[in-house]
Amino acid sequence: MNVLVLGAGQLARMMALATKPLNITIRAYDVGSKTVVDPLALDNSYGDLNDGIAFADVITAEFEHIDHDTLAICEASGKLKPSAQAIKTGGDRRLEKALLEAAGVANAPHVIIADKADFDRAIETLSLPIIFKSALEGYDGKGQWRLKDMSQANAIWDDMANFIAEANTSVAQGIVAEQMIPFDREVSMVGARDAKGNTFAYPITENHHTNGVLSVSIATNEHEALQQQAALAFEKVADALDYVGVLAIEFFHVGDKLLVNEIAPRVHNSGHWTQQGADCSQFENHIRAVCDLPLGSSELVRPTAMVNVLGEDNLPQEIFTIPSLKMHWYGKTKRAGRKMGHINVSGSDKQVLLERLNQLADILPAEAFSDIQQYVRSLG
Ligand code: ATP
Ligand code: MG
Ligand code: MG
Repeated sequence: MNVLVLGAGQLARMMALATKPLNITIRAYDVGSKTVVDPLALDNSYGDLNDGIAFADVITAEFEHIDHDTLAICEASGKLKPSAQAIKTGGDRRLEKALLEAAGVANAPHVIIADKADFDRAIETLSLPIIFKSALEGYDGKGQWRLKDMSQANAIWDDMANFIAEANTSVAQGIVAEQMIPFDREVSMVGARDAKGNTFAYPITENHHTNGVLSVSIATNEHEALQQQAALAFEKVADALDYVGVLAIEFFHVGDKLLVNEIAPRVHNSGHWTQQGADCSQFENHIRAVCDLPLGSSELVRPTAMVNVLGEDNLPQEIFTIPSLKMHWYGKTKRAGRKMGHINVSGSDKQVLLERLNQLADILPAEAFSDIQQYVRSLG
């Protein structure tokens, strides 16, 4: 089987690494250079999008911000999974909110904003603090404004109005205003759905962010009631999209409820732990789903944590003394804050996992990892 992935980042790379043993060949379409590449050797070029489509038995995506013309061309080939509509929904917060409402899945109170009248209505309807998010092209907390105090309202509106006017997108840019949720913590779920409609939900992970970017995800089996809520939301969303592949859902945990923050129609950073905490990783299951192969188990085999390496391309070799530790580098050029790689660590139970995480925190250099160290130490 040959698979073309739209997007040539670390997610395409990890799909290729996971499925090489299945004799599946993955090429990636770099949307920036508009060339098809080998996700494991980015310098090797295999032509343009049409060449990629001709090569592929199946086309899929590693991120949701793909321009709609490209999606339409891929869909017309009959090879695109999940559908263009599912990918677009994950890439446009307006469509995403409409989907959650239609599917009856709890999410934060929100108002869709296209103009000043909508903005005024948002401020009237929602109580402070309010978070405003660009409808299109938001990731890693970019394209967001937080209104804590009415004195900031005019300045925020001016900034957002400029942002909307200057947007270089084929679809009109807009804003989604959301009530800020005083959550107890953030969790997420990755799961897979096959073409017959069977769903395989992985255990939810507890997530920690550093400067708006995911930095630690921990998967255990200790959140049974939340797991059921999350799995139900996953099924509703995946069914509503008639989804094929791996889909991620981020939640706010408030009291005993989960509210959906956002969905990602793809494999997800908070699912990297599945590389060693589950028998079948999210990467293999995504490719199995889109290639119409039976899916692998999504059960947790051992408690596992993932730590992102942000803006660093070298770590002390001593990390390898930690039992179970696996290092995953993405082969990217170093840039401040950039996702350069991740570390997975497991334990036979949560206690052992936390001990190993603390060992890791002690080894990681303090300048770059102080926030992660603080978080890990707070876990005990
Ligand atoms: P990514 O796609 O990289 O996860 P993003 O840019 O799409 O990020 P969101 O996930 O929507 O952004 O928001 C980033 C973070 O901001 C959330 O993980 C959460 O910590 C905080 N946040 C977002 N929306 C809300 C909200 N309504 N209430 C409270 N906190 C929020
Ligand atoms: Mg997002
Ligand atoms: Mg998010």
